[in-house]
Amino acid sequence: MPIRPENRWLYPIDWQQLSATVRFRRAGARCEQCGRPHLRRVAHLGDGRWRDGEARCWRSDRGRRNAIRTGIALGAVRMTKVVLACAHLDHDPGNSTPGNLKALCQRCQTLHAAAEHRWQRWWNRFRLRACRDLYEDPRLTRQRLSR
Ligand SMILES: [Zn+2]
Repeated sequence: MPIRPENRWLYPIDWQQLSATVRFRRAGARCEQCGRPHLRRVAHLGDGRWRDGEARCWRSDRGRRNAIRTGIALGAVRMTKVVLACAHLDHDPGNSTPGNLKALCQRCQTLHAAAEHRWQRWWNRFRLRACRDLYEDPRLTRQRLSR
């Protein structure tokens, strides 16, 4: 996930090296949550289960072997290229201690940051409304609403 410009100053100056160390040296270029390999196209079912081509088995969203006993409809399988990101477990970019960082694929990163993203959307709407209240002429707003 790209770093927001207003948060860039919160990251340490060696963030690129720190992130690479966590993703590739510590995690071995695999998601530390589900085990998906970095920069590989993996088949998945959309519910977290994915096909591990090296081990020739299906894995759960926690990386455990998942025996699928019933047949899988071909239309249910999707392909995704996995890209690892380095995530802050407490959502604080100022806390870059190794225990607070985790290498996550885009699916795990999205699930991990969902609450934070909801809050950020609410905050952006709140700021926009506050600016509108300060600078817009209420008579124009009323006219726009009456149309
Ligand atoms: Zn993952």
